[in-house]
Amino acid sequence: MARKHAKRGGWMDEPEAEEEAPPPVPCWLCGRPTGTTIVWHHPVPKSRGGRDVVPMHGICQQTLIANFTNSELQRAGLDVDVLLTHPPIRKFVDWVANKDPDFTASVTRKGR
Ligand SMILES: [Zn+2]
Repeated sequence: MARKHAKRGGWMDEPEAEEEAPPPVPCWLCGRPTGTTIVWHHPVPKSRGGRDVVPMHGICQQTLIANFTNSELQRAGLDVDVLLTHPPIRKFVDWVANKDPDFTASVTRKGR
C-alpha cells in the first residue's frame, strides 16, 4: 500500500456503504415501516385473480382478513382508503400506530 490515505475530517465524509440495508417499506394498511417480517399481501385475493402484492405487517393482514370477506377485499382492491373508512380498521390502525414494527399479537412467541 503505497498510497497514503489521508483521513479528512469534515466536508466530504462519505459513509462507505458496502452493505446497504434496504430502506424499510411502509405497511400498506397502517403506514408504519415493516419489521423483520414482511407479509406480501394480495389486496385482491389470489383466488379472485389478484396479482398485485403489497407489503404488510402480519398483524395488519390478519386484521384485514378478520374484518373483510374476499368479496369485500376484491371490491376495495388496491384502494386502502376504502378499507380505512371502516371503523374497526381505523381503530386498529390507530391502536397499532404506537406498537413496535415487529409487534404481533400472540401469534408466535418471540424467541432469540
Ligand atoms: Zn401494518
